[in-house]
Amino acid sequence: MKVLGIETSCDETGIALYDSEHGLLADALYSQIDMHNDYGGVVPELASRDHVRRVLPLIEQVMEKAGCSREDVDAIAYTRGPGLIGALMVGSSIAKSIAWAWDIPVMGVHHMEGHLLAPMLEENPPQFPFVALLVSGGHTQLVEVKGIGQYQLLGESVDDAAGEAFDKAAMMLGLDYPGGPRVAALAEQGVSGRFKFPRPMTDRPGLDFSFSGLKTFTLNTVQAHGGKECDDQTRADIARAFEDAVVETLAIKCRRALRQTGMKQLIIAGGVSANKRLRARLEEMVQGEKASLYYARPAFCTDNGAMIAYAGCQRLLAGQTDMEGIRPLPRWPMADLLPL
Ligand code: ATP
Ligand code: MG
Ligand code: FE
Repeated sequence: MKVLGIETSCDETGIALYDSEHGLLADALYSQIDMHNDYGGVVPELASRDHVRRVLPLIEQVMEKAGCSREDVDAIAYTRGPGLIGALMVGSSIAKSIAWAWDIPVMGVHHMEGHLLAPMLEENPPQFPFVALLVSGGHTQLVEVKGIGQYQLLGESVDDAAGEAFDKAAMMLGLDYPGGPRVAALAEQGVSGRFKFPRPMTDRPGLDFSFSGLKTFTLNTVQAHGGKECDDQTRADIARAFEDAVVETLAIKCRRALRQTGMKQLIIAGGVSANKRLRARLEEMVQGEKASLYYARPAFCTDNGAMIAYAGCQRLLAGQTDMEGIRPLPRWPMADLLPL
């Protein structure tokens, strides 16, 4: 089955064609980052308008790259939620229209299920069951995954998501949006240990997270050293201390989740899972637990069409469709998803 995936939940237009027999045939992404940069974050109305401009040309590009025509496509998958309502409306209206015009089924995909299943697009994918750490711009969750749609939330952030904390720390350090990759690059020049940031909520039991305190800690440290104008080495050392704190906190909670569930496989997904230091630290941690770590290539950690095409394909193969009306779900708990 060949499924055309459409991702428009936020500030990236992602399109891909996934084939259940031959894997990913082609994918393309347009990031609106430059457009939103002047505003220091995503402007929802600008995002929706830009998705309108990008979706169809990107679909044509993907079809051409894959050497496929419309007759080859068996179904459409699109991101139904969660995300920005206007951006979701664009993807869902186009997906439903194409499905109607081409007379093929369509399936609305949960954006976080897309992220969660992205490591399945790689070689040697994990087998169910496993523990998943979802770390993105809007989510930080530990989930026990027994199969597609069988998700038990083990813990989540009580305030900011890890990616959001990276983005805010970046702003305090005078870096552009999105901050994650930029903080990580700056941290490369930093000395570990000059500043010691807390590891929030690791001193008490449980699998919840809190990252808003790290933000305050970053701000106070920057201000104590002359604000954004502080010298480059100090900025780098602060970035390193921040990254170390996030990485170590996530590693402690992931180890706890593996031990609590008795599982031996950990997958990480979402934008922050592209972070090299996080991958290296978790690799070390799972070795100690005699467990294995799985993640997607960096381009499939952040938003992309391939994960939506893949997740939609699995549900479509199981006979699920979503033909009724155009109803995006800007808020949509993963617990509401149907098992396959
Ligand atoms: P959600 O998926 O929760 O709806 P989102 O789609 O905005 O949110 P993603 O696209 O998965 O989030 O990820 C973007 C986030 O990942 C941003 O916060 C970004 O700063 C962060 N990020 C990306 N690369 C890195 C990196 N190398 N290190 C740390 N953070 C990163
Ligand atoms: Mg994004
Ligand atoms: Fe995302």
